[in-house]
Amino acid sequence: MPELPEVEITARRLDEALAGATIESALAPGINALKTFDPPLEALAGRTIAGVRRIGKHLAVDVSGDLVVLAHLMSAGRMQLYDKRAGPRDRTSRLLVRIEGGRELRLREFGTKQAAWVKLLAAGAVDSEEVIASLGPEAWPDPPADLRPLLDAPRPLHTLLRDQRVIAGIGRSWVDEILWTAKLSPFKRGNDLAEDEAAVLREAIVTTLDATLEHYERVVKLPIPDKLPLPLRVHRKAGEPCPRCGATIEAVHYEDYVMCYCPGEQTGGKILKDRRLSRLLK
Ligand SMILES: [Zn+2]
Repeated sequence: MPELPEVEITARRLDEALAGATIESALAPGINALKTFDPPLEALAGRTIAGVRRIGKHLAVDVSGDLVVLAHLMSAGRMQLYDKRAGPRDRTSRLLVRIEGGRELRLREFGTKQAAWVKLLAAGAVDSEEVIASLGPEAWPDPPADLRPLLDAPRPLHTLLRDQRVIAGIGRSWVDEILWTAKLSPFKRGNDLAEDEAAVLREAIVTTLDATLEHYERVVKLPIPDKLPLPLRVHRKAGEPCPRCGATIEAVHYEDYVMCYCPGEQTGGKILKDRRLSRLLK
């Protein structure tokens, strides 16, 4: 589940390794992950990679001649740099960018869903691209000083913070960690946030993502592992003691994800209804 810190460390590592490299050719094999046709992928041949950066949860590869390869890894995609080229049987490949000298930048996707996508855009068209134009402000490194105007809606914080149009970069893993750090209930409404709570939340966003990136800077090297070592304290920790107060971490199961929280510090001792359990008990 690559979110802001995972995409950021991927961009940094790829940038270090690829800036200045020349592209030999590019292709998008199998079911088409490539969502654009003009300019064509062949336009990348012979061009130089200027750098790799992150926009929200997207990766952007800047290429000479004012081209940008914009990619979204969705939940199961990974952008990796390999010393050797993929064989024809590698069914996980969605985009192959062959680098002069034998290396290959490869977007792979695991599992059955094919959701990761790539667009080749003119540099000037990136900001007006719908998925980019609709992004809220970046969650890191410097989110807006006062989050209240941003979160001023009768929706739970857990939903608001994951909405890329509200704030860009946070997903299912880091929202749990951020709300736990801020000691705020995942179900507190955005428009119920007091000034001091909004300040604590902003601080929690910055410190949580900062600490995660510092961790990745220490431990993530090329080749970037398929599974990054997420330094989680509450997410995926249901049933374990809260590392701060010792209360048992509780979970609410949704169809495709699990929300974790500390009832001792976030919900005033209240255990939130687990929809999966209540459905099973009916
Ligand atoms: Zn706790």
